[in-house]
Amino acid sequence: MADRETGTYDRIRRQAYDANMAIYRSGLIVLTWGNASAADHDAGVFAIKPSGVSYDELTPESMVIVGIRSGDVVDGSLRPSSDTATHQRILAAFGSVGGIVHTHSPFATSWAQAARSIPCLGTTHADHFAGAVPVTRHPTAQEIDDGYEAATGDIIVEHFREHGIDPLHVPAVLLPHHGPFAWGPSAETAVDNAIALESVARMALYAHQIAGSPPAIPDRLQRKHFERKHGRGAYYGQPG
Ligand SMILES: [Zn+2]
Repeated sequence: MADRETGTYDRIRRQAYDANMAIYRSGLIVLTWGNASAADHDAGVFAIKPSGVSYDELTPESMVIVGIRSGDVVDGSLRPSSDTATHQRILAAFGSVGGIVHTHSPFATSWAQAARSIPCLGTTHADHFAGAVPVTRHPTAQEIDDGYEAATGDIIVEHFREHGIDPLHVPAVLLPHHGPFAWGPSAETAVDNAIALESVARMALYAHQIAGSPPAIPDRLQRKHFERKHGRGAYYGQPG
């Protein structure tokens, strides 16, 4: 293997490992119900958690390297996460996505199980997601039986394309009766978005309990909050 490849693999393995450990430590994960990946689009590969390995036993070296186009394992001795094909389809479709996190975090999963998108009710949500976090369609019987994980990724991509949603403007989605996927330009931001998603899912549930059907945040306020953090004239945080 060329030195350059080794360097790339080491770097994304480390990023994927750090992201997997971060979601574990954040409390979003129970048992082994989660996985994170880190991509290098120039090299055409991503690193992902091995399947069924407990978080105590994970190491950066155990992360599996997979081709973004092919979906084939290109380096690593363990089997990749069973959700690998979902990550692969999202990464193959969206070159702006550099890392993906899948969890069954309870509040986001509760909205997914109710097959309801999470409406944008406040500025906490608007800081991270420019509008509702959508819920996709159900997979068909054939999609469930044949290539389920790849079909799941295709359904996510289809939803964002059909609705003209920029995946970096709304960096998360809910799969009905399943749970959330979150992503970002890097694995690290994907973790932040997965944590933010769980938090806004919880607040949206409480707002519904308080108000029945709480009003959506006014458009202008929603745009203001997203754009001051992510827009062209972003001014949140310290100048880089
Ligand atoms: Zn899952």
